[in-house]
Amino acid sequence: MANIVLTLSTAVQQTLESTYAAHRVERQAPGVQFAAKLPDTAITSYRSGKVMFQGAGAEREAHKWGTPTAKAVTATKGDVLPQGFASLSVAGSDETGTGDYFGPITVAAVYVPAEKIELVRELGVKDSKQLTDDYMRQIAPDLMHSLHYSLLVLRNEKYNDLQQKGYSQGKMKGLLHNQALNKLLQKISPTTPDYLLIDQFAERGVYYNYLKGQRNIVEQNVLFSTKAENLHVSVAAASIIARYAFLNEMDALSAQVGVTLPKGAGAKVDAVAARILQQQGEDALKRVTKWHFANTDKAKKLAARR
Ligand code: MN
Repeated sequence: MANIVLTLSTAVQQTLESTYAAHRVERQAPGVQFAAKLPDTAITSYRSGKVMFQGAGAEREAHKWGTPTAKAVTATKGDVLPQGFASLSVAGSDETGTGDYFGPITVAAVYVPAEKIELVRELGVKDSKQLTDDYMRQIAPDLMHSLHYSLLVLRNEKYNDLQQKGYSQGKMKGLLHNQALNKLLQKISPTTPDYLLIDQFAERGVYYNYLKGQRNIVEQNVLFSTKAENLHVSVAAASIIARYAFLNEMDALSAQVGVTLPKGAGAKVDAVAARILQQQGEDALKRVTKWHFANTDKAKKLAARR
């Protein structure tokens, strides 16, 4: 679902509201001063001056009023969420480390009941674009003390093993999300969340294909959306806890090999990998990397040239 936010001047906002007056609907959400519903677009006008356009016609309508800045365009894909979703009790899950040559994949699932949403915000969970690694390191321990969560770390040896057995990264992620959600549901039982929200890395059908043959497949009330960290704080908290675990693992691996391991999969990664290859050999490098990444070949070539 397309989701576009414009910040408008008071005058333009007033014109907008009178233009859509015939389509006005009641919406009691905080900060909302006007809402309208067209056949294919929901328009929500906030006291802050922001106006949100959602639905198939969002782009068409939004362009009548202004040009969204690149950052304000958040086209999410996946399920259309129930009204007021952000204030429901939700278990969210997210992963990190999938694009990093060095280090594990980490997946966290976090339950945020409605009555703790405000607390989670107060602990510093905000717009994901403002979250630096250092900031996440600061707030993750508080979140882990205040919330029920489960955290899984897929270390490189196991990752490489599964990869060689023919598991795609998508399948590994699917298995990890399902396992994390299962563990979390056990922890909070007999409480059940209103919904579970998975930060979508694969569409529903693909996700459940990955899980074929597994026991304990979590399916009830599961929703998928991209950019889910902006849709419920539980996913934002999961993403922070997963990242925190990833950073800690990277610290430990860096200490193990005696080099600060860079994140990502760029040229710096190749250079560090080449150095490890030369000084410690292939096995040592393999133990701290996702071996099938193209970085391995690049590092081998770099190492051969020196
Ligand atoms: Mn994600």
